[in-house]
Amino acid sequence: MVSRQEWAGLVNSYIHNKYGPSSGNYWDPRVETMPRKELEEVRNKKFRAVVGYLYDNSPYYHRKFKELKLRPEDFKTTADIVKGPLTVKQDFAISETEHPPFGDFHCMTMEEWSKDGFMIESTGGTTAKPRIFMVSASDKDNWTYLYARALWAFGIRPGDILFNATVYGPFPGMWGAHYGANVIKCPVVAGGGMDSKRRLFFLRETKSTVLIGVPSYVMHLAEEARKAGVDPAKDTEVNHVIMMAEPGACVPATKKRIEDDWSATTHDYFGHTEAFMGGALGYSCAEEDKHHDRPVADHISEDMAIVEVVDPDTYEPVGKEEKGITIVTNLMSISYPTFRYVMGDLMKYTDDICECGRTFGRAMGGLLGRVDDMLKIRGTVVYPSAVEDVIRSFKELGNEYEIVLTKTGELDEMLVKVEVNPAVERSNWSQVGKKLSEELALAVGLRVNVEILGANTLSRFTRGDLDAKAKRVRDLRPSAH
Ligand SMILES: [Zn+2]
Repeated sequence: MVSRQEWAGLVNSYIHNKYGPSSGNYWDPRVETMPRKELEEVRNKKFRAVVGYLYDNSPYYHRKFKELKLRPEDFKTTADIVKGPLTVKQDFAISETEHPPFGDFHCMTMEEWSKDGFMIESTGGTTAKPRIFMVSASDKDNWTYLYARALWAFGIRPGDILFNATVYGPFPGMWGAHYGANVIKCPVVAGGGMDSKRRLFFLRETKSTVLIGVPSYVMHLAEEARKAGVDPAKDTEVNHVIMMAEPGACVPATKKRIEDDWSATTHDYFGHTEAFMGGALGYSCAEEDKHHDRPVADHISEDMAIVEVVDPDTYEPVGKEEKGITIVTNLMSISYPTFRYVMGDLMKYTDDICECGRTFGRAMGGLLGRVDDMLKIRGTVVYPSAVEDVIRSFKELGNEYEIVLTKTGELDEMLVKVEVNPAVERSNWSQVGKKLSEELALAVGLRVNVEILGANTLSRFTRGDLDAKAKRVRDLRPSAH
């Protein structure tokens, strides 16, 4: 039997610096620079415990293990994980329908949560019924630690003031970031629920040094600032931009553009509501963030999660540095650690040791978009981020673009509509368009039609919400519906 106290105690025993302070390069050096062999032993120990904890406390997982005729003792090392059940989004949705309102996968009851809870978390999406999850007070403390560790790796230190240009609501990641900053002793300006003008006012008045936001919104905010006669590079104190939810911070040309906009260094992190609640599952480090010649890599919190990267069709593990979909087993949650949760996101994993000295493996280029973002055009696979990287490398172009896919007869057609930089004369547009078309064809291996538009003609992503990510692909092909 693994009780809640035992599981929580084990998780805690491998957190050496929960509430700070820290000095030097690492928030928790004992864990972050642990030799790989030792780290693997810690993971094995936590893995055995989490299976026992789920088996004994989660009715849903108890049933799943039983269906496969598996008992906790069948799981000895992390290599045994492949025997276990996969969890997909629909599983939790069905569980919540059958056992409202929270389903039966949690390891705590609603009554226990009402006495030892932190919040409800939920996921984005507008059509399906929202799925809701109970978060315990201990989970909040673990997220806090994970974010302190990530923010510290970015170079955030006491004296920094953070401005968060997102709306937290029931989306857990930002709560983690908020409390994580607080244990470093940094104040946070919660800039949700206001328009860009007000955000700029708060950002400047508070002399915020760190801006947190979705890449497309961070670029929009810089544009809005310039419209109001404010140069974000010179007239604000911002020297760090932390981004998530879109691949931008890992797309070299987008990263460069944002660094120039704000005269700041950029950092990337990723999480996942169901799989990893409000913790930082991946985070870049100050050393990685210096790279401009290739997409930066994010460290994975491997002490707190087992990440598998598998082929999207066969679910067999892919090789090191090969692209596959990400499956996460949670090694930190008290209220609902997920087992083999299938995230739709693509990843390339490496365990090569980073220059920073952290021993956690890394996701090369962060999360590489979702499998369903991947476009198949005339039989060729195209990732929208490849198109973005080319567009953002053109000084003659603005930030906004759209990819439109149509079908003429049997042939797929790809059109990229992109706004011009207002400084470019109209007589030069066609030349810019021709150059862009050539570079896109080289990057994606297909003929690409280009349409250059005037500034401010495409729609903007003005709210900066985590669930209102920029949607830049319109697939009008009959087969897409
Ligand atoms: Zn590193």
